[in-house]
Amino acid sequence: MAKQPIITVNNLVKKYDDFTAVNGISFEVYEGEIFGLLGPNGAGKTTTLEIIETLRDKTSGHIMVDGFNIETDGAAIKQRIGVQLQAAGYYPNLNLTELIELFSGLYGIDVSANEMLEKVALTDKAKSKYKELSGGQKQRFSIATTLINNPRIVFLDEPTTGLDPQARRNLWDLIREIRDNGTTVVITTHYMDEAEVLCDRVAFVDGGNIIGIDTPDAFIDELIASGFERKKEVKAANLEDVFITKTGKEWRES
Ligand code: ATP
Repeated sequence: MAKQPIITVNNLVKKYDDFTAVNGISFEVYEGEIFGLLGPNGAGKTTTLEIIETLRDKTSGHIMVDGFNIETDGAAIKQRIGVQLQAAGYYPNLNLTELIELFSGLYGIDVSANEMLEKVALTDKAKSKYKELSGGQKQRFSIATTLINNPRIVFLDEPTTGLDPQARRNLWDLIREIRDNGTTVVITTHYMDEAEVLCDRVAFVDGGNIIGIDTPDAFIDELIASGFERKKEVKAANLEDVFITKTGKEWRES
């Protein structure tokens, strides 16, 4: 299958006064992939994401999203993308059903709240308030809200930060499912193990620059071919695998 770019970023620059947060980066996200922006705190990942989402102005550069130019077609882009809200955006006294109904009303789209909650395995929490959810449930709910407008692309900024291993692995399954249903996923993460198993391709961002874009496999093979060896013997499982095997895979939060 030919790889079709759904996002094209060309020479993007973002300056905050005289500080350059994004220093002329270029990359493409292909339709139907999970694309990861990886990098340390302050690398410029969130800034880049928010500019593509039309939530923040760029200093210079050129960005196309699903055939639309962010400069002139911001409204069309907003309709085609799903973006996670900050937790503060969820009215504390509404339950999950009411929140989904509120958001779908804002989008002008008629969706079944129950169907949306089913996608993220939260139907049993339909009458709970957002603040009553566990960390993993909050993340799943916020992912459900990104799917309300049936977007072509969803953007997830550090979706698994702070989650326990079960919640993290279940969220990976959910993100893969979203991709397998035809939605392109762009995520940021600090967790390299997560990027390795979840992302089809990754870009390393550091100090506002992209220092490499490839599949996790290709990056790792290239490093090994250069003669790199791990100090410690590599085993076929890690401590997290032991933990998951001993404690089970099911959700723990309810
Ligand atoms: P993190 O993983 O910590 O979220 P990040 O890669 O997403 O990091 P950004 O949030 O994009 O990084 O920030 C990149 C740089 O730009 C940081 O040095 C940050 O302090 C700076 N920055 C971000 N927003 C602003 C702002 N509104 N005004 C000034 N500087 C900012």
